[in-house]
Amino acid sequence: MLADYHVHSEFSDDSWYTVDDVCCDAVRLNLDEIRFTDHVDYGVKPDADHPELARPGDGKPAVNVDYARYFPAIELARERHAGDLVVKAGLEFGVQVHTIPQFTRVLEQYGQRMDFAILSIHQVDDQEFWGGDFQRGRTQREYNDAYYAEMLRVVERFSGYSVLGHMDLIKRYDPCGPYPFERSRDVIAAILERVIADGKGIEVNTSNFRYGLSDLQPCRDILRLYRDLGGHIVTLGSDSHEPAHLGSYIRYVMRCLGELGFTEFCTFDRWQPVFHPLPE
Ligand SMILES: [Zn+2]
Ligand SMILES: [Zn+2]
Repeated sequence: MLADYHVHSEFSDDSWYTVDDVCCDAVRLNLDEIRFTDHVDYGVKPDADHPELARPGDGKPAVNVDYARYFPAIELARERHAGDLVVKAGLEFGVQVHTIPQFTRVLEQYGQRMDFAILSIHQVDDQEFWGGDFQRGRTQREYNDAYYAEMLRVVERFSGYSVLGHMDLIKRYDPCGPYPFERSRDVIAAILERVIADGKGIEVNTSNFRYGLSDLQPCRDILRLYRDLGGHIVTLGSDSHEPAHLGSYIRYVMRCLGELGFTEFCTFDRWQPVFHPLPE
C-alpha cells in the first residue's frame, strides 16, 4: 500500500500542477492512493471569489481554494481513474487562533465533500514564515517559542482536522540553523498529548529532503516522543507542488518509521483513520 497524503494542485496559489496530471503521474508512480490537500490560509488569503483582496505577488493571486470548482474536479478525477488509483479530497488548513471561525465554517459547508484535513501552522498574527516576516525582529528562541505556542493554542481550540502537518515546519525557514529539540520539548509534548487525546494524528512530510533538512520532518526526536506518548496515527505526504515531488521518499520514510518502532501508517476514510502495516 503506497499513499501520498499531502498533494497540491493548481487549486493552490503556489502550484500549476493540474488535478488530472497529478493523477496520471500517480498511476505511473504505482501509488495506490492520493490525497489532494490544497491550501486554505485565512488571515493572509481571501477566498477565490475575491482575488482583488489578495496580497500582491508575482504569481497567481494568493487566494484560498476555489471550493466550487475544487471538489467537482476531484470527484471527476476519482471517476476517471477508478480502478487505477484511489483519489480523495482533503484540504490543508493553515490555521491561526483568530481564523478558527472561518475554518469551522468551511467544515460546516464542505465537510461532507472531503474526509481529511491537515492542520498546519503556516503563519502567526498573519505573518508568514516562508518569507521571513515572522522571524524578523525576533531571536531564534522567540520565534520558535511563538510558533509552538500558537500551535498549542490552536490544537486546544480546534479539532476539525485529521493530522498535524509538518510539525517542525519553522525549521524549514530558520535563518539561524538547527534549534535544539530540548528547548521546545515541553511545549511539543503538550501539543502531542492534546493531539492524541483528541484522536488525531501527525504527518511525516517528506519534503525535508528537497529543503535540505538534516532530519525527517518532524524530526526523529518528535516522532519518538509521539510514539512514547502513545501516538500511532501517522500519515505520509510529499507536499508535492510539481511532478518531480509527487510520491517522493514515501517508501524511504516508511522504512524510517519502522526503524523508530512504528508498525502502521494511515490513510483516511470518512474522517476515520485506516491502518496499514508498514513494510518489514
Ligand atoms: Zn504546509
Ligand atoms: Zn502543503
